[in-house]
Amino acid sequence: MVRLRARLARSQSTLGKGLLDLLSRDRLDDDTWDEIEETLITADVGVAPTRAMVEELRTRVKVLGSRSPEEVRGLLKEELLTQLGVDLDRTLHVKPHGERPAVVLVVGVNGTGKTTTTGKLARSLIGDGNKVVLGAADTFRAAAADQLQTWGDRVGAEVVRGPEGGDPASIAFDAVAKGIEDKVDVVIVDTAGRLHTKTGLMDELGKVKRVIEKKATVDEVLLVLDATTGQNGMRQARVFAEVVDVTGIALTKLDGTAKGGIIISVQRELGVPVKLVGLGEGPDDLAPFDAEVFVDTLLG
Ligand code: GDP
Repeated sequence: MVRLRARLARSQSTLGKGLLDLLSRDRLDDDTWDEIEETLITADVGVAPTRAMVEELRTRVKVLGSRSPEEVRGLLKEELLTQLGVDLDRTLHVKPHGERPAVVLVVGVNGTGKTTTTGKLARSLIGDGNKVVLGAADTFRAAAADQLQTWGDRVGAEVVRGPEGGDPASIAFDAVAKGIEDKVDVVIVDTAGRLHTKTGLMDELGKVKRVIEKKATVDEVLLVLDATTGQNGMRQARVFAEVVDVTGIALTKLDGTAKGGIIISVQRELGVPVKLVGLGEGPDDLAPFDAEVFVDTLLG
C-alpha cells in the first residue's frame, strides 16, 4: 500500500500542488478563480462538478477572510472529499454464498485493461486466502484467452476457456459450473468489450448474465475504464452502464495520467462508485480506492 501511495503521489501531485498554490495566493481575484477552474477541468473533473467545487470554495474562502496554509489545505481537502463521495459504499462483493461462489463480471471497452484487472483482482483475492476460477469469455479478441491463461498460471487460478470465437455465455456458464464443482470462493468472468451496436452488446452481456444466473448470483459487475481516455472513454462507458447494471468501476492506468479528477466525473456521470484503481501493469498494481488516501497523496 505504501508503494501504491507513492505511485499515486507521483502521477497526481501536479494537480494537488497546482490547486494549493493557486488557493494560497494573497489575492484571489476572478482571474485566479478562472485558473482554479481551468486546473480542475484539465484534470478531467468535468464541468458541472468543477463549477460546484469552485462556487463552494469561493464562498468558504470569503467567510474565512485571511487564510493560513493549513486552512487552505483543509478547505481543499474537505471539498475534494465531498466531490469524491467519501461516504460512498465501495465494498467489493466477493463473499461466497454457502456452496456457491461469488461471481464477478468484468466488462468494458477492449484495451481498457479488463484482462489485466481480472488477473490482478484474482491475485489479490487469492492473497486473501480465496480460491478463484477465471472465465475467459472474451472470445472476440484472439489473444485474450491466452493472456488470461498467463495470468491464471501466474497467480494460481484455474482458467476456463472455450474455442476461439465461441459463445461467451457458454464459457461463463462453464466457468461458474467449474467454480461450484471445485468449491471455489470467487469466479471472475472476463468479457469481450467490442462496441458494435448497443443492442448487440446488450444481447451479449444480457445473455452472459442470464446464463450465469441459472447457477449462481452475479455479485459484482465491474466496469473497467481507462483513466487516460478522458471524456471519450466516458462516453463509451456510459453505453455499458446503460446495458448492464454496473455495481462498481475499476479505473485503470491512473499511474499514467495526472488527470485523477476523472474519478469525480465518472462517479457523477454513471452514479456508480470507483471501487478499484489500477496503478501499473504488474500483479500487485491494483488497489481498493480510498478517497482519504487519494486526497492526502494529492495534497502532499
Ligand atoms: P483488455 O483488452 O480490456 O482486456 O485490456 P488489457 O488487459 O489487455 O490491457 C491493455 C493494456 O493496458 C495492457 O498493455 C496492460 O498491461 C495495460 N494496463 C492495464 N491496466 C493498467 C494499469 O493500471 N496501468 C498501466 N500503466 N497499464 C495498464
